[in-house]
Amino acid sequence: MKIRLAAPMTFDSIVDGPGLRTVLWTQGCLHHCKGCHNPQTHPLDGGIEVEQQEVIEQLQQAKLQRGLTISGGEPFLQAAALITIAEAARKLGLDVWAYTGFTWEQLHNSAAVDYYERLKLLRLIDVLVDGRYMQHKASVKLLFRGSANQRLIDVQQSLQAGEAVLLQGA
Ligand code: SF4
Repeated sequence: MKIRLAAPMTFDSIVDGPGLRTVLWTQGCLHHCKGCHNPQTHPLDGGIEVEQQEVIEQLQQAKLQRGLTISGGEPFLQAAALITIAEAARKLGLDVWAYTGFTWEQLHNSAAVDYYERLKLLRLIDVLVDGRYMQHKASVKLLFRGSANQRLIDVQQSLQAGEAVLLQGA
């Protein structure tokens, strides 16, 4: 299966989660947040298509990475393609973070045709940074997020609790 990316993967990022991280920039977003810093990621037919296996091989070759961060664009528009990649990342011992313009609640109460793929992807994530970017709530002082409405959600704890549980110590 192919995945549509907005840009080549970034390695050694220190701003998209803790430690050195590989960042996957997915193409396509329909949230249209005012003040979005990455409008070039919005067109669903933009960017470049690459094979999942190519992404996985790059993950395997990357050295000293603590985790994979899936960003965008809106990653959950390509949930089916990301499942195999997230599984491979976990097998490599990487922790998985993902940024989404959807809230935790929206992902669970969606009528999307790929609802089950979205939830399957969610189960492979350690930390979800959720919610649209809100310019009037933006601050450069926030850790790993752009605006104060966005939450750093401990996904595994949240799945057990049945509701969004914030990441402790973030
Ligand atoms: S979700 Fe992210 S990429 Fe999409 S419009 Fe909002 S800030 Fe931009």
